[in-house]
Amino acid sequence: MVLNSGSSSVKYQLLEMTDHSRLASGLVERIGEEGGVADHAAALRQVSAELRGQGLGLDSPELAAVGHRVVHGGTRFTAPTLITDDVLAGIEQLVPLAPLHNPANITGIKVARELRPDLPQVAVFDTAFHATIPESAHRYAIDTAIADRFAVRRYGFHGTSHAYVSRAAAKLLGKEPAEVNQIVLHLGNGASAAAVRGGVCVDTSMGLTPLEGLVMGTRSGDLDPAVVFHLQRVGGMSTDEIDTLLNKKSGLLGLAGANDMREIGRRMADGDERAQLAFDVYVHRLRRYIGAFTAVLGRVDAIVFTAGVGENSAAVRAAALAGLEGFGVVLDPVRNAVRASAGRLISAENSRVAVAVVPTDEELEIARDTYALAQGRADARGPGAAG
Ligand code: AMP
Repeated sequence: MVLNSGSSSVKYQLLEMTDHSRLASGLVERIGEEGGVADHAAALRQVSAELRGQGLGLDSPELAAVGHRVVHGGTRFTAPTLITDDVLAGIEQLVPLAPLHNPANITGIKVARELRPDLPQVAVFDTAFHATIPESAHRYAIDTAIADRFAVRRYGFHGTSHAYVSRAAAKLLGKEPAEVNQIVLHLGNGASAAAVRGGVCVDTSMGLTPLEGLVMGTRSGDLDPAVVFHLQRVGGMSTDEIDTLLNKKSGLLGLAGANDMREIGRRMADGDERAQLAFDVYVHRLRRYIGAFTAVLGRVDAIVFTAGVGENSAAVRAAALAGLEGFGVVLDPVRNAVRASAGRLISAENSRVAVAVVPTDEELEIARDTYALAQGRADARGPGAAG
């Protein structure tokens, strides 16, 4: 079972690991809000009750392990980790780095462990895939002592997606991940780019938090940090107000009043200039990162689009890659326009760089990581061993 516990929601999927089929999936929303369940414990009990009808509750003897998505692993957790009291304490120590996300993840872990103390439970970190980024790319150019004291550096996020998609893209090309240099563009409501050299992440657009980088549904992405001082000194805004502005009211929403790219597209078709500007700003930022990561990698074999916008918006893909023939990138407009749910190539035959659309599947990646660790634990115990 894969659990993704947010501050007011729990998403779950139950996967059969022999063939990776989905047995069940769902979402409990409005936790702790009016009309919703009281807390995460009640939410997980509700999930369990929903599944019990199919003989699949959290109390099912067939359940092998529980995998938890955890947003921030800091520098300590650079791989999926079997959860112990010590690991949980370690995740708690990282709350200052992810004050909105880690507490909800921790609550989900605690409740699931209380319900099934006998099961292996695994934390899969959104930051882990980026642990290989070299210091020249993850260190910000500020006073080193201050940066180190407050753990300020680039961590990167969406790592589970970048890991899954970069491996799937290599497979689509008929190559081993080690043979392929790629730029992965995870364009969902949150958005990030990753430069992946031979299967190893060497740079990413998100930073200390998920705010840096690309223009997103409601996040600004990159801006001059002095904008924050300016809004404080001249605008009289508080730190919390600016935090909310940049994380929740910016990006496509701030530019055009809608955070959904489908809505932006509809309004553009109606001649809405704000929607057009939002699209143009979004695409310009994307092109900047494609250029930057091309230089970081030196040789690019593939550019890969994933997540809600990346998988579905032919218009964004076309605009992001227009005029890049000099970089060896030629999109096939017909292939790009095809709507399909499977991974596919959308570059022209004469494109030196392959362009691909690869659906992400973070739940499957978490389930695989979790199952591998859980099995490892079972193997380590050996046949007949106790505990
Ligand atoms: P995700 O976070 O990966 O679930 O992506 C969610 C976002 O994908 C939505 O907010 C939309 O902006 C975008 N999206 C989903 N479907 C489409 C579509 N058909 N065309 C353009 N954007 C889409």
